[in-house]
Amino acid sequence: MSSTINFLGKDSGFGDNNNSGYIEIGNDLMIIDCGFAVFNNIKNRFDYNKYNNIYVVITHLHNDHAGSLSQFILYCWFIYHKKVIVVTKCDKMREFLEISGTVDEGYEITDNALGIKFIKTEHVAQMDAYGFKIDVNGRKLVYTGDTCTLDPYMPYVDDCDEFYVDTSKFGGVHLKFEDIIDKLKEIKANGTNVYLMHIDDFEYIKKLNNGEFYM
Ligand SMILES: [Zn+2]
Ligand SMILES: [Zn+2]
Repeated sequence: MSSTINFLGKDSGFGDNNNSGYIEIGNDLMIIDCGFAVFNNIKNRFDYNKYNNIYVVITHLHNDHAGSLSQFILYCWFIYHKKVIVVTKCDKMREFLEISGTVDEGYEITDNALGIKFIKTEHVAQMDAYGFKIDVNGRKLVYTGDTCTLDPYMPYVDDCDEFYVDTSKFGGVHLKFEDIIDKLKEIKANGTNVYLMHIDDFEYIKKLNNGEFYM
């Protein structure tokens, strides 16, 4: 089953392809997270002229999720004369863009766009982190972002079509696959497609997954 999110990468923070994806919504483009490896992946992928709005949803400010954001904003502004709409609830988003020298006119920051409902979660002590829920292209999606707990998402999973889940071998500040596999099976049994992402060890996860969930 193909996913509504087109993934640019599904690697955890130390991998080559940062966990990131995109959805085309009518004449708009929505990119989910913009880590340090994402800019080179997206700069020639799209004809940015054709989009009315370019949205980048940012779940949190770790480099594998926001490391190319400033560069992408500068690129859209200076090459395409387009403003990027940064959709986020991150406390320090503006400060992050200011200290990295991002031109003010090149972006706006909002937590109210595309009907996204942010879901606050726990990830690391140093910063706030969010997943989100979005109804898009006729599908209901829930996306965990980086998280060490499934709890904040549970009220939303029964009523969603696609659940995108942080999946780790080691756990810690991420969800340890071993610990959540039974819960994910329940969610799947309820009719929700489960997609694993932000994977730190593909071989290990693939073996343990045994074809149960989409990778
Ligand atoms: Zn990450
Ligand atoms: Zn993170």
